[in-house]
Amino acid sequence: MCAVSSPNSQYVVAKFGGTSVADFDAMNNCADIILADTNVRVIVLSASAGVTNLLVALAAGCESDKRENYLKQIRDIQYAIIDRLNEADVIREEIDRLLENIEMLSEAASLATSEALTDELVSHGEVMSTLLFVELLRQRNMGAEWFDIRRIMRTNDNFGRAEPNILQIHTLTMEHLHPRLNDTIVITQGFIGREEKGRTTTLGRGGSDYTAALLGEALGLQRVDIWTDVPGIYTTDPRIVPTAKRINKIAFDEAAEMATFGAKILHPATLLPAVRCGIPVFVGSSKEPQAGGTVVCDKTGNPPLFRALALRRKQTLLTLHSLKMLHARGFLAEVFTLLSRHNISVDLITTSEVSIALTLDTKGSTSTNGNLLTNALLTELSKLCRVEVEEDMALVAIIGNELSRAKGLGKGIFGVLEPFNIRMISCGASSHNVCLLVPGNDAEQVIQTLHQSLFEE
Ligand code: ADP
Ligand code: ASP
Ligand code: MG
Repeated sequence: MCAVSSPNSQYVVAKFGGTSVADFDAMNNCADIILADTNVRVIVLSASAGVTNLLVALAAGCESDKRENYLKQIRDIQYAIIDRLNEADVIREEIDRLLENIEMLSEAASLATSEALTDELVSHGEVMSTLLFVELLRQRNMGAEWFDIRRIMRTNDNFGRAEPNILQIHTLTMEHLHPRLNDTIVITQGFIGREEKGRTTTLGRGGSDYTAALLGEALGLQRVDIWTDVPGIYTTDPRIVPTAKRINKIAFDEAAEMATFGAKILHPATLLPAVRCGIPVFVGSSKEPQAGGTVVCDKTGNPPLFRALALRRKQTLLTLHSLKMLHARGFLAEVFTLLSRHNISVDLITTSEVSIALTLDTKGSTSTNGNLLTNALLTELSKLCRVEVEEDMALVAIIGNELSRAKGLGKGIFGVLEPFNIRMISCGASSHNVCLLVPGNDAEQVIQTLHQSLFEE
């Protein structure tokens, strides 16, 4: 259910990702897109490409020479934009202040890092890109207001992957953001938020898409536009399969499934607000807006059996062998209670009489750096069972419709995968996906082979 009726239904929120604001020229393309549609009133930006990765590395704590190197790379990215602006003194001072802050926080992180410190540090990327973009728009005679999203993006304190408080966001948005929209366009940060005590949080890597959708929902907007570096959602990542085809129209549930299973094009939670309010999402390329894109909406005519392939790398496979005899009760319950206490959510799961195999997603948060399997967790687990850990696996998801009812799936899928070791198969729980776990090194070839079989033949 939408928490507000549509008070601004003619307006649009546009989100520009890291590559779209990577440098001065890319930012200029974004300005052109905004100029071309007067309904675009709320602009959500990511940090310039590369900056978040560097900030995450600084937040993990590093030696001083490495730190200097990372800081220099961040400074170079921001200065390259400032150097192309005309009257740049004021903005340079502002960015310099933020860079000093980053340096100070990075030094603190190298002494003792924390999840809260990581999010505070990482948030500087979006703060800098939005300040620079407002200045660029000003110099193109486009009035725009910089808005600190933390005033309205209330989250819990699950740093690194914080969850938004939808009702509070609605109230705060109506109070602080909504009144501005008739007078100006608002430039704000994706990805970052604030918890109750006032500390900065982040919504998980790639979270700016989610911010845009949350704002679209809270403001009751007409559409959410996601501008990125590819002109739409394709049958698979076009970097892996250059012959992948664009999907012009896709249903919310299919696209959500793609995002959940790793299609980086959308943050996994992006479609939740859109579905709640039925707001269509458009995905296009800021480099070539004339190329069109994909519309994600409630329903499409004739959903195909196979829609797309998604890939999620860096998965860990845990195989847990029960120490007890056959038919021991409560083993699953004990394992899941333990994992939940360690804040770990399980992905795929298969079971046998005496063992469980499950996968953990080690990507997505700013704070874990892929290290979900702490020594504490492994020690506790080994009291319950014998633990086998296999890292660097990849999850390949075949996304489609009515897959659980289809006949003869095996031929198109498993017939062509003969040369590969498929470590785990998950099928049947959802009619929208069949998932395969394969060694990370084989992942791209598996995707290419499946694409050829399911989408090209
Ligand atoms: P942004 O920084 O704009 O958010 P991302 O890098 O997060 O951009 O997402 C865009 C990238 O998503 C593309 O460059 C592409 O490689 C990747 N991608 C993965 N799966 C798909 C897909 N099915 N269709 C299009 N792009 C995809
Ligand atoms: N800058 C953040 C990231 O790189 C958020 C985003 O780009 O959406 O993860
Ligand atoms: Mg992204």
